[in-house]
Amino acid sequence: MSSILSVVEKFQGLLEENLKFKFSSGRMTLGKCGVPNRLFIFHLCQNQKLFSDFLQEAGLIKGVFVCEKCNSEMKIRAKKNSSDGLMWVCRKKTAGKECGIQKSIRHGSWFSSSRLRMEEVFFLTYELVRGTKSEDIQEEYFLSSTTLADWRQFVNETILDYIELNSEKIGGIDKIVEVGESKFGKRKYHKGHAVEGQWVFGGVERGSGKIFLVAVHDRTRDTLVGVIKQWIEPGTAIYSDSWESYDCLDTEGFQHLKVNHGVTFVNPDTGCHTKTIESTWRHVKSTLPSHNRQMDFKFYLAYYLYIKSCKEQKVDCFNKYLEIIRDENWAEKKFSV
Ligand SMILES: [Zn+2]
Repeated sequence: MSSILSVVEKFQGLLEENLKFKFSSGRMTLGKCGVPNRLFIFHLCQNQKLFSDFLQEAGLIKGVFVCEKCNSEMKIRAKKNSSDGLMWVCRKKTAGKECGIQKSIRHGSWFSSSRLRMEEVFFLTYELVRGTKSEDIQEEYFLSSTTLADWRQFVNETILDYIELNSEKIGGIDKIVEVGESKFGKRKYHKGHAVEGQWVFGGVERGSGKIFLVAVHDRTRDTLVGVIKQWIEPGTAIYSDSWESYDCLDTEGFQHLKVNHGVTFVNPDTGCHTKTIESTWRHVKSTLPSHNRQMDFKFYLAYYLYIKSCKEQKVDCFNKYLEIIRDENWAEKKFSV
């Protein structure tokens, strides 16, 4: 199967001729070398035939559909009365009579359980995966807030599933992992009823920069040691501040060094410091959206890790998302947005 990148690149080439508008210096593009931009999505969604060709080539809808009744290959045909404007149709003739079986173009695909138009699904997904703020999307497209919230939930869950499936323990023998806890924001549900912020516990492996981030309810020994055992290989040297919950790590199969931040940032005897995790917190906080904090915190963390992993793999985050969608088995998945 072709990569999403190469399919996008091909369609960028096909759509380029539609670009009549030119800047006096420079030129408008549909994105570069297979990395799509908003203008590309717009032009693609405007041309029904090209859009369905794109979806087929990218593997986002079926490439081949065999008729259940007569076993012949069906074809995608324009159908004005259908909601998508296109349908799978079987034109096989037996004894002069056409089979006539019709199936939705969405059959067995990502689009199959959505009541939105396929173009809407595509556009909305692009904006959400790119990290566009909800209020900007609503202002731009006049979408209902329920539609937007539902689709955001779907995108969030897909990304969370992907991150959970593709995360592994960090550290190991001869490796150092810095751990720490940080409190994120203060959320106010309604006036006079402030809810304390969200504790996040995390660790970063020195050298590789591999990290884990987990939203936790508290900073007790049971909670933190539980997360450490889930995310850090035994035998790892763990560097932490002097928070008392870490005091048992020596007896839990780890080497443990600590630094007392009340006194100094580098332990003068051991050289232990936690500057890497501190700078990770600053980075996570600076990239988190300040709006729409009513969302479950685990989704923010998963999104942060998703964007980080796309950058490390040098892949575009929307192309990568389409790849995740393509590789799902939608016939077995039940969802409705
Ligand atoms: Zn048929």
